[in-house]
Amino acid sequence: MKKLFAIAFLLSVACAAGAQTSSVIVFKGALLIDGTGAPPIKKSVVAIEGDRITAVGKEGKVHYPKNARVIELEGRTIMPGIINAHGHLGLVAGTQTRADAYTRENVENGLIQYEQYGVTSVISLGLNRDLVYELRDEQRRGTFPGATMFTAGRGFGVENGAPQVPVAPDQVYRPRTPEEARAQVREMAAHHPDIVKLWLDDVDGRYLKMDPGIYKAIIEESHQQGLRVAAHVYYLADAKAVIADGVDVLAHSIRDLPVDNELIGMMKAHSVLYIPTLIRDESAFVFAENPEVMQDQFFRLAVSPDLSRMFESAAYRENVEKDPALPKQKAAFAMAQKNLKTLEDAGVRVAFGTDSGAGPFRVPGWAEHRELELMVRSGLTPMQAIVAATKMSAGVTGSPDIGTIEPGKRADFLVLAENPLEKISNTQKMVAIWHGGKEVKPRAGAPSLRAE
Ligand SMILES: [Zn+2]
Repeated sequence: MKKLFAIAFLLSVACAAGAQTSSVIVFKGALLIDGTGAPPIKKSVVAIEGDRITAVGKEGKVHYPKNARVIELEGRTIMPGIINAHGHLGLVAGTQTRADAYTRENVENGLIQYEQYGVTSVISLGLNRDLVYELRDEQRRGTFPGATMFTAGRGFGVENGAPQVPVAPDQVYRPRTPEEARAQVREMAAHHPDIVKLWLDDVDGRYLKMDPGIYKAIIEESHQQGLRVAAHVYYLADAKAVIADGVDVLAHSIRDLPVDNELIGMMKAHSVLYIPTLIRDESAFVFAENPEVMQDQFFRLAVSPDLSRMFESAAYRENVEKDPALPKQKAAFAMAQKNLKTLEDAGVRVAFGTDSGAGPFRVPGWAEHRELELMVRSGLTPMQAIVAATKMSAGVTGSPDIGTIEPGKRADFLVLAENPLEKISNTQKMVAIWHGGKEVKPRAGAPSLRAE
């Protein structure tokens, strides 16, 4: 407080003397993980002006104005803001997924929660009402808060099939013919979504999968409109089929079989991005099996008291344990972890996502930090997990502006009390979050997540 007062005093003296105060802010002395995968820089300098990073380097090697505001971060670590390339907005109200949940207020709350947890950008990957475009425009004008939103608009599913989420009819297209699919892609393209989403899954054998002629039409027409396509997949054979037709992103892990050389070759040849969403699979049972994960303040602040009560109830636990699908879900989770390690080692482009917001068990904010831990448990290094969650996920958004801490990029980064390269869960020890060159204030009326 004294220090702050002193700075304010000096500033006012400088202003009174007619000296121009620089609008440059300098973050000095932290260990810098820049998101590119390069070795971290000890005693770094990051300079920002407005919403942009202007200079990055080692202390003593970076020039900045003498009258810049300097924030000393000795002993801290800086890393880029997390980018969730597979999230959802406005699907959950209270403890339920509901068709009437997609409201301005719910979308806003979701974006604020992500931002409070250091997720500075999120792709809302399908199941959006067209309201999303209005809100995205407002956000670009600076009048809508929270994490920077990218969107896949409605997305493409199957009549009486996937996705099996209770949504309003105007939240997802379910084309019956390739022609209808093409027309719907064109209709959506007029809104300029950031990416297109399609679902290719029989949901455990319960529904008909999307017809190959339809997904081919969706991919072709999207590319014609200058849009990339992300596919929800589960099965290895389906992943190969959509890649053969040109899909750009796999939005979930392959969970039925080990990935093979044929798939790896296809993914590398087409530069396909892979989003594992491990927490999506773990969330089916983790709260019943490992209730201790819910004791953490980091988790508790992310869920409402109603949700907490539901997760902790004996009925919920019993439901999970008695679910005949449980062994299969666990096997899918194990397969997803194994496949992630194989693909990362093979040099496939691994990005990052959680499917948070898609249901009450997929807790936005908390899920992203858990996902980083699960990626490391799968055998990735903390650096690989961080690069996936920053630079590689920026690749899914299509925005060249975000993802790394380099001159010209947007000033989106986290200041951590401890080094996540030593222990990945240190990403939870956030001291400050900077988004678009502004420090994110702790949510009004809520206890702060900030570490000391
Ligand atoms: Zn999803």
